[in-house]
Amino acid sequence: MKKGIAASKGYAIGKVFVQEHEEIVITDSKVTDVAGEQEKLKKALDNSREQLEKIKAKAAAEMGEEKAAVFEAHITLLDDPEFTGAMNLEIETNSVNAMKAVDSVTNTFVMIFDSMEDAYMRERAADIKDVSKRIISNLAGKGGDAFAITEENTIVVAHDLTPSDTAQLDRTKVIGFMTNIGGRTSHAAIMARTLEIPAVLGLGDITTSVKNGDLVILDGISGDVIINPSEDVIAEYKAKKEKFTAEQEELKKLIDVKTTTKSGKRIEVCGNIGKPEDVLGVIANGGDAVGLFRTEFLYMDRDSAPTEEEQYESYKFVLEKMEGRQVVIRTLDIGGDKTLPYLPLPEEMNPFLGYRAIRLCLDRKEIFKVQLRALLRASVYGKLCVMFPMISGLEEFMQAKEVVEECKTELKAEGKAFSEEIQWGIMVEIPAAAVYADELAKHVDFFSIGTNDLIQYTLAADRMSEKVSYLYNPMHPAVLRLIKMTIDGAHKHGKWVGMCGEMAGDEAAIPTLVEYGLDEFSMSATSILTAKKIILEQE
Ligand code: PEP
Ligand code: MG
Repeated sequence: MKKGIAASKGYAIGKVFVQEHEEIVITDSKVTDVAGEQEKLKKALDNSREQLEKIKAKAAAEMGEEKAAVFEAHITLLDDPEFTGAMNLEIETNSVNAMKAVDSVTNTFVMIFDSMEDAYMRERAADIKDVSKRIISNLAGKGGDAFAITEENTIVVAHDLTPSDTAQLDRTKVIGFMTNIGGRTSHAAIMARTLEIPAVLGLGDITTSVKNGDLVILDGISGDVIINPSEDVIAEYKAKKEKFTAEQEELKKLIDVKTTTKSGKRIEVCGNIGKPEDVLGVIANGGDAVGLFRTEFLYMDRDSAPTEEEQYESYKFVLEKMEGRQVVIRTLDIGGDKTLPYLPLPEEMNPFLGYRAIRLCLDRKEIFKVQLRALLRASVYGKLCVMFPMISGLEEFMQAKEVVEECKTELKAEGKAFSEEIQWGIMVEIPAAAVYADELAKHVDFFSIGTNDLIQYTLAADRMSEKVSYLYNPMHPAVLRLIKMTIDGAHKHGKWVGMCGEMAGDEAAIPTLVEYGLDEFSMSATSILTAKKIILEQE
């Protein structure tokens, strides 16, 4: 048995198909006909574009526009002067062959992305590698893609699966996949969850541990992979699979169900989003609202901050898609593990305790105001709640509200509309805010508990550290007390409390949180239906 990262829930029992991992040898050979080499590159880029357009159309039809967007990003890369322009320049100035030029420009870009601390950004290096692999394959005359799967019940095994590999999998034949590398936030994982195909990633050496035709069991819940299992084990997993499929079907019935406990308390089950398009996943999974929009993602993956107009369009898109259902948008939470290339931050010994989130925004008002103006302007399109991250005391909230007032005055003078119904809240993710909740609750409209940070600060256990992860325990009695204090503090003053940290979707924690009186749970879209089911079973 092998153990990897459980990346997409479900069970698959089938025959293995190992994706050829054919290495194309890239040489250092120089060229004399520079124009001819550039022409070859152009042809390879054109072929790549054509292939990607086809894959994009297939992905849009099978997985929806949201997931097809990644291929649009790939096509954009092909036209990006910084990327493909650099390849042409490399051929011209160093007389290298086209493949070598693609390879070295790719390596430079990948190095930049790989060195970023943010996991999401690091995963984006995979997009660049994917596009580059395609261009090189076209230069080598191998065409783009190779998945000649003819057998039903196939489990695809690959070193890594790029988004275009994943989009091309024939869903009538492929029932699961496993890879050597990749984690829960990799594209392969995200795609697998969208396609609802069970997947185990990061298995290390699975491509050499199995061969074509081997029978395997893939457990996308535990991350276990069993190679050539006995009849008994197969029977055991067949039963598990049947039970799981029945449960999933049952869960779909909850999409339109408004969640209430047995005693009749209505509880909102919402989705967290990072990009505007993610709202579609929240809707498809029956989310009541958006409980957290992490707006820093709008600021990442680019070389300058998004303008007021760009942000306004993003917020308006989400509000309109939610058709009057609540959308909680968090203002910029940068710093700590999230940095921006165009916003250099001072070196600090403890960036998680340093210049970040609301602290930075109150100091750099010119950045903060762009976002607040965009939020205010978008507010006329739906039910907007705005919250500030990393609030430690009342003063910060009051200062933030003052900046909001300044923006309102400006917008009025410019004749630009905004809603007076916006709710203003705070993230409770610093223990001080939890302890002081009953006082803060007099001034805010709502709280949202950010357990990802609250736990790390309460237990002094870095959320990124493997070494102290054994201390990072959501159910630690001290953490639970802080959560209870926050809920009680809010309710004392008639305010509602949500939770948008990972704990809100933790099946083991949900009953306790319901018992404490939490009003709103917000989690990744694919956890929503399971959470609804658990909440419906509570008193
Ligand atoms: C949290 O801290 O719980 C939270 C939701 O915010 P983030 O994970 O973005 O820090
Ligand atoms: Mg946080």
